[in-house]
Amino acid sequence: MSRQIAVGIDLGGTNIVTALVADDGEIIAIVSRRTDAARGAECVVGEMADTVNSLISDNSIALEDVVGLGIGTPGPLRLSKGYIHRPANLPGWENVPICQWLQEKTQLPVQLENDANAAAYAEYWVGAGKGSCDLVTLTLGTGIGAGAIIDGEILRGHFENAAEFGHTIVELDGRPCTCGQRGCLEQYASPGNIAKYAIEQIRKGSESSLGPVLKANGAFDSQAIAEAAQAGDSLADTIWDEACRYIALACVNVQHALNPEILVLAGGMSKAGDFLLGRVRQHFISRTWKIFEDKPRIVLSNLGSNAGVVGAAGVAWKAHRSGAACLNAATAE
Ligand SMILES: [Zn+2]
Repeated sequence: MSRQIAVGIDLGGTNIVTALVADDGEIIAIVSRRTDAARGAECVVGEMADTVNSLISDNSIALEDVVGLGIGTPGPLRLSKGYIHRPANLPGWENVPICQWLQEKTQLPVQLENDANAAAYAEYWVGAGKGSCDLVTLTLGTGIGAGAIIDGEILRGHFENAAEFGHTIVELDGRPCTCGQRGCLEQYASPGNIAKYAIEQIRKGSESSLGPVLKANGAFDSQAIAEAAQAGDSLADTIWDEACRYIALACVNVQHALNPEILVLAGGMSKAGDFLLGRVRQHFISRTWKIFEDKPRIVLSNLGSNAGVVGAAGVAWKAHRSGAACLNAATAE
């Protein structure tokens, strides 16, 4: 028998990444296309299916050697129905029966998963949490996604949207969030929001080496803040450290809620490496329980931007091994 593969799709607001992934997590082939969400869900999903079908045939893989297709998408989701519900970064996509559509167009069993859960599953399966049964991933990207693996299973909760730690409230009556709450973690610690905050401070007159960068480029990202902070910029250091304090606060709360063995920091902000990890660990230790010695290990993702697509394929592999063919689409109405 030739080598079996699963297909993973990571559907983001900017790009759609599709990959063929072996049973050990190795990426056999990968393509990335821009997401043009405004063209409508049916059109975009049709193109996603075309990409899957041509990736399989271009790599000379027989359909019977494809164990399934997993897709990670932004929440909120109706997982048991196989629906994308109403994601903030895919405007107009409401109750999209994506599992059913993809299954009809690819003839593959399809598993839908929250993109942050898929990334967490990748870390558990082949990434920084390999060998652990209990881990939580915080994906510090445009927003803050989170996923929890408990006893080797993705934690979903009764309403199927568990582990949304990016929307845990860290400031009573704090900054308004896109989700409608106030004071959510992602308003204080996501890369996009800390860059926005730094830009506001400079426009209000704060001194910073990022001032000329802002003038020249009109914007900068969290990586520029990390670099400026490391070079001794006081404003950048204050803003970076504050974000790390909020992330550490979230880690303490996650520790007490779920007691994971490992906490993985992933997403764009983790590119700062030890400058992120060191600060978060330092604030975590100073704020966590003093009455109990065992603590989660806080580590960086080692899968980078491929965690989502590898995890989506991992979810398809998991369903194949457990015999749960087409779990979502089978119950779609
Ligand atoms: Zn929120």
